[in-house]
Amino acid sequence: MIDHARYAAAGREAVIAASIVCREVQDNLDKVCAMTKDDKSPVTIADLASQAIVGMILKQKLGEDLHLVAEEDSAFLRDEDNTVYLDATLAAVKGVWPEATEQKLLDAIDLGAGDTDHHSFWTLDPIDGTKGFLRNQQYAVALGFVEKDTPTIGIMGCPNLPIDLSQPFDERDPKGCLYMAIQGDGVYESCCDDVKAETIRITRLDHVEGEEISVCASVEKAHTDMSATDRILQWIEEQGLGHAGEPARLDSQCKYAVVARGQADAYLRLPSRKPYVERIWDHAAGACIASESGAFVTDIFGRNLDFSHGRGLEKNKGIVCAPPRIHGILLSAIKELGIGQE
Ligand code: AMP
Ligand code: MG
Repeated sequence: MIDHARYAAAGREAVIAASIVCREVQDNLDKVCAMTKDDKSPVTIADLASQAIVGMILKQKLGEDLHLVAEEDSAFLRDEDNTVYLDATLAAVKGVWPEATEQKLLDAIDLGAGDTDHHSFWTLDPIDGTKGFLRNQQYAVALGFVEKDTPTIGIMGCPNLPIDLSQPFDERDPKGCLYMAIQGDGVYESCCDDVKAETIRITRLDHVEGEEISVCASVEKAHTDMSATDRILQWIEEQGLGHAGEPARLDSQCKYAVVARGQADAYLRLPSRKPYVERIWDHAAGACIASESGAFVTDIFGRNLDFSHGRGLEKNKGIVCAPPRIHGILLSAIKELGIGQE
């Protein structure tokens, strides 16, 4: 039997330590250089440092029970031509991991090379929204625990997201926040840099009929079809189902948190023309948190997200995350407009 409370406490400690490291690297952003992966997406020393810290702490707390499937690996840092990056990553982790050595660091990163064949495993995006991180905007340290086909624990450090809903989220907040959920136990909020900080159970304020429907979406145009989003919102207006404001744009799984805490009524991720399979680490933590807040999280055809097909959500297309009534309206709009059929 899995002790979910113990697992979640270990995960929370790991995410907090990694968030502290990310924040420190970001304080010196002028010195951070982004390396480019084969798929042309950027990765920074903070991605690698964050993954090492989460791996190291989970291993320390869970020992042989650890199966971790994480986005990054150590190949780049092991290359002799890249020792400056290795040195920089080692320096980045030292604040929270003083005993780290080159070897321990590389091994900790590679703890993330686990496979998805176990009945349960962790999945980590050490910095989800690296482009947001590089713009000094939103990003998340996103850690999910998957059992069979569903994430049952979600922990998300959001180092730049203001806990105060009245503050704008396109600027870097000095404190940030953290969300944690265990299936069946609701969503807890705290600051993201102190393990001992108080955690508060949050209740999502549901959308009031007649109020403006607020939607959030990616900043990156390639990650979601904004013209389809506009068509959906226009359809909702035409049907007299509500009035929608201009979509809020922010990077990373912070979008799931923004729905979970009632700041937005929906997170829409609509497939762009190029075929793309969503990665499990881009959704496990956030989907668990949003579901536990009472939101429905499905793909654009209303199917549950199925985490039992390896590193990709192979059986799903796009994301619709919203409280039940709005979720129903959004699925109707998608169907009526034939979105995702082309
Ligand atoms: P977001 O910040 O919500 O735009 O999502 C960032 C994530 O989008 C990254 O971690 C990538 O894994 C993922 N991504 C990369 N290319 C695409 C794509 N074409 N469509 C959807 N997501 C993508
Ligand atoms: Mg990501």
